[in-house]
Amino acid sequence: MRHFSSGLALCFVLASVSACNSDNGSPPAPVAAAPTQRTIIMVWDGLRPDSVNPIDTPNLYALRQQGVGFSDHHSTYPTFTMMNGSSFATGSFPKTSGFYGNTFWTPPQAGAAQPIPVGKSAAGANQDYVDPVFTEDYAVLTTLNDYYGGQLLLVKSLFKTAQDAGLKTLALGKSGAAYIQDLGRGGFFVDENAVLPQSLATELLTAGFALPSNTTFAYPSGTITLAATNGNPTARAGALTFPLPNGVQAKDATDTTQGPPEDASNKYMLGLFTQYILPKKLPDLTLIWFRTPDNTEHAYGPGSANYRKALASQDARLGEVQAALKSNGLDTTTNIIIVSDHAHSNVSGPTRLFPLRAITSSTTVTGGITNAALADIDPVNGYSVSGDVRSADLLTYAGFNAYDGSGCATSAQAGIKADGSAVYAVGTDTSGTLCGTAGRRYQAISASLATPVARFQVPATLPGNGIVIAANGGSDYFYAPDHDATTVANLVRFLQSREEYGAIFVDSRYGAIPGTLTMSSVNLENATRQNKGQPDIVASFNWDSQQLVNGLPGIEFESFQGNRGMHGSFSPIDVHNTLIAFGPAFRSGITIANPTGNVDVAPTVAQLFGLTMSAADGRVLNEALVKPASSSTPSIRASVVNPSAPAAGIVFKSPVDPTGATVDTALTGTYSINLAVKDLTVDNKTYRYFDFAQAVRN
Ligand SMILES: [Zn+2]
Repeated sequence: MRHFSSGLALCFVLASVSACNSDNGSPPAPVAAAPTQRTIIMVWDGLRPDSVNPIDTPNLYALRQQGVGFSDHHSTYPTFTMMNGSSFATGSFPKTSGFYGNTFWTPPQAGAAQPIPVGKSAAGANQDYVDPVFTEDYAVLTTLNDYYGGQLLLVKSLFKTAQDAGLKTLALGKSGAAYIQDLGRGGFFVDENAVLPQSLATELLTAGFALPSNTTFAYPSGTITLAATNGNPTARAGALTFPLPNGVQAKDATDTTQGPPEDASNKYMLGLFTQYILPKKLPDLTLIWFRTPDNTEHAYGPGSANYRKALASQDARLGEVQAALKSNGLDTTTNIIIVSDHAHSNVSGPTRLFPLRAITSSTTVTGGITNAALADIDPVNGYSVSGDVRSADLLTYAGFNAYDGSGCATSAQAGIKADGSAVYAVGTDTSGTLCGTAGRRYQAISASLATPVARFQVPATLPGNGIVIAANGGSDYFYAPDHDATTVANLVRFLQSREEYGAIFVDSRYGAIPGTLTMSSVNLENATRQNKGQPDIVASFNWDSQQLVNGLPGIEFESFQGNRGMHGSFSPIDVHNTLIAFGPAFRSGITIANPTGNVDVAPTVAQLFGLTMSAADGRVLNEALVKPASSSTPSIRASVVNPSAPAAGIVFKSPVDPTGATVDTALTGTYSINLAVKDLTVDNKTYRYFDFAQAVRN
């Protein structure tokens, strides 16, 4: 996803300091006997279940063979990192947790003492909250948690549950994703920007370890002094690119040299765990979340050579965890749960409209730019040149007042048609009037309007019936802060008409809108967050679960970000992710075909410690446990949910033409949704799992 620099909310300037108390303290003293078993949850960001094999991931493959494999596991929709981070934290969906990640919008609260959040990013910069905010940043999460009165997550987390029982916890790894596990700062914390609490940071410095260079921003100025040799151990390289004929830089999917751009950062953070925190602190519950292979999939696409290198890298990190457990005598008493937040798809529009194209492989790299070049159509071994959609641009051109706050942008995935022509021209803002910066380039159909628009900055005061879009990737969130029913109905109709969009979910306050399902039908409505962060509409981008790119099935449209890989959609590829469990609490050598989900992980881990999470939406995966809390056999029923009535009379617009002038004459004009679900009933309770949601246009 996007990698925004961000910053720290200094605790002393905020009204609520509940999240800040631990800066000066250690985790609470144990109030219960230490457990006989420890548990490590290791999140492999974006790991597709079809990538677990003896060649690419030998350690993980062996773990699955020896432990429990789950063959029908489900990510929480929208299938984004922070959405699933909140599900791991709480065992719940947004209807219960109240959290909407990755990027969401905090509407100004008229008359409130603090109309919008105010704070810094993890990098110490002022964070913008007028535009939608990217939440993969501990300081942003801290600001938001304070803004929501310590209730960014509305229910008690797994980590807090463990800490209240006297257990020691550690969250380590990816920015934002690790931190949301422990918003109350009751345990040890290491991510790409900070180390908490201060006592741990000081201990690590004393022991001669470098710290993430932004750690200084986590404390009052002068509190933490890094060694002169500290450097920036969590720095990440950028992806290698090559220029398309229009000058836009495309990620070089043919590169075989780079591997995961975050490799050094992961090795460093895992070294803190294996060399110091594990042996010295002996955490009972550990969550390690690395942005591998996800970051490499975004850059180069699932199935690419660098993706496979990323799998190998992450598998080596797993091997290091196992070796550290063994050398500390903890291997037979520690449970290891490997899970991904979501799977991953290649970014592309339909290949009949946008054929895959060959790229002549690079042989040199200079300053991050290779000598690869775009070549002819190659439907089998080619790479995508399409898939990016800017909702704010399409809507603005169609007459809506729409904003996404993303600024002027170009994308290598903006679309090259079968005849070789581009969907979008590249413009240059020579004066700076369009983009705010002279010389910026842009691709926007709305730049051709009488009053040109290319930036889509959210105004401090929205015009009547303004729409704010949190552009997230495989799904976009639409906010209509006036809650005008006609505007919402028109917006829905527009999204249904454009074939880039898939299933559309609308807040049930607007009643039954033809061809839509309610957000409550997929657990996305939260009364506490209505008007305070909950979108009015969540739309998945359209997808094709069969199309191969790089030898792997699954493509989707994405928000205008220029990635080769993306997730967040309601495709069965994005939804079906990876769960593997191994250790003394888990059965051996079995595969569980029952549906399971990321919301089930936290209640199951709580059960391993003899604890319960009564507010969780998920269930304890008893069928995987040596000592189940219940031995009841679940019953499972699959069905398809449809809107009460389809939308009719729609003129469908082709993705090859953002003006809407090119219509799809093959279709008659009806739009509906197939939402495929499985209901698992056990011990008189029913849990619903979502397999996919598909737009049906006829
Ligand atoms: Zn991602």
